[in-house]
Amino acid sequence: MIDISPGKAEILPADHVWGKTTHETNDVLAAVSEPGNPARVLCIGPAGENLVRFAAVANDRNRVYGRCGPGAVWGSKKLKAVRVRGKEKIAVADKEKYRSGLDQALYLMKQAPVTKRLLRDLGTAGLVELINLIAMLPHKNFQDCLHRDEDVGRISGETLAKTLLEKAGSCYLCPIGCQRHTRVAGRDGGEERGEGPEYETMVLMGPLCGIYDIGAITRANYRANELGLDTMSFGGTVACAMELAERGLIGRDETGGVGLAFGSGEALESLAGMTARREGLGAVLAEGSHRLAAGRGHPEYSMTVKQLEIPAYDPRASYTQALGYMTSPSGACHLRGGYAVSLAFFGGAREIPRFSLLQSPIAIRNMQNVGILQDSLGVCRFTGYAFSSDPWARMVGGVTGRDFSVARLEEIENRVATLERQFNFEAGATAEDDALPARFADVPIVVEGKERRVSREDQERMKQDYYHVRGWDAAGRPTPGLVRSLRVEESKR
Ligand code: SF4
Repeated sequence: MIDISPGKAEILPADHVWGKTTHETNDVLAAVSEPGNPARVLCIGPAGENLVRFAAVANDRNRVYGRCGPGAVWGSKKLKAVRVRGKEKIAVADKEKYRSGLDQALYLMKQAPVTKRLLRDLGTAGLVELINLIAMLPHKNFQDCLHRDEDVGRISGETLAKTLLEKAGSCYLCPIGCQRHTRVAGRDGGEERGEGPEYETMVLMGPLCGIYDIGAITRANYRANELGLDTMSFGGTVACAMELAERGLIGRDETGGVGLAFGSGEALESLAGMTARREGLGAVLAEGSHRLAAGRGHPEYSMTVKQLEIPAYDPRASYTQALGYMTSPSGACHLRGGYAVSLAFFGGAREIPRFSLLQSPIAIRNMQNVGILQDSLGVCRFTGYAFSSDPWARMVGGVTGRDFSVARLEEIENRVATLERQFNFEAGATAEDDALPARFADVPIVVEGKERRVSREDQERMKQDYYHVRGWDAAGRPTPGLVRSLRVEESKR
């Protein structure tokens, strides 16, 4: 483990926590906390140790950095945890400028409905009903978006608030406070406590697997957090396994007694432990849905882009979101690809029609750039429901005392996007990887009374326009002129 304290950074043995869950590890390592000087812990669980491809890193027990398998990277380096202690204040160069940006941000968060009410009152699960209203809530491994209203009501943020919620909470000093501390009846009759489920977990481990049992989803969520699994890729992989089983491509003899049918909350709960420990069928699930489906000769049943499982917004219900999944540097990710749904429908950006081939490339480029800015600063994505770059430009400029105008930030965002693209190309990616699974082109869903799919022609058109907007060539490569003007080579040195 890496232990960071004032003036010191050490690599220490962590044998005493190897094999332990994220909660156990956190509690053992945080025990050195002193009044006014708490220790904060990032760690992996058994899933990361066992190199599950979608293993997560957990912070403060249940705040999880999940996508793309950072836990497996830590596990491969035998890094169990990072512990940080310190109480130094951050120096602010220009307090007035910083304060003006902060006041603007706080004002806008108090005005925007999602940051002012929805996330605070219902947590992210408050999106379940809304996303269903716009016909975007996926079902049974993205076979359709059809749900009975009463089923959606069983997993809504409102139901969570009435049945599971103990109290709301927040990350450090956050004025929004979307965190949900919950409790649920255990299968053995006792009571379990934890956090969540968040929206993505609720849907991808819920309706995507045909499950509307909020108790089963919550218990599986608790297990995934303790074991250190990304609930999104885990849910997408279980949904894929359920479809393969439905089609007779996973035999009954392979499941170790687990009934792998859509709707089985029991299977979901059992598979979390089996996957983290790579036991039985869990050893195959631990490789993710692409390898699972490809291993059965049917990669088309893996709902992934660049082998990353698709989040809980059906791309057929928004071309902008579809293009975001296609062009996200890390595969199908609503955050790296552009948080199109939320901004378009609930963040006030209503000028972005969801089926505009023409506007989607520019819209998604802009959303991706805001995401790059937020990730570079290490701030919460949900601020994007209330504001974009301007308050950040003032705050960063105020703290550092350097020029961070909106235009300067935009240049940095474009440089990051181009660097990431170059990295992906050097790692073997091509323009062909910027595509949705065939199901989204071939099988329509019904949105506002019309059949909608994202045809291959529409994908190609949007993709080419997006490359053009980014300054990349028709093969999706950043042009030499762009690389020079953004000083990307210089940055690499
Ligand atoms: S920082 Fe973001 S995730 Fe954390 S409580 Fe605030 S809104 Fe929620």
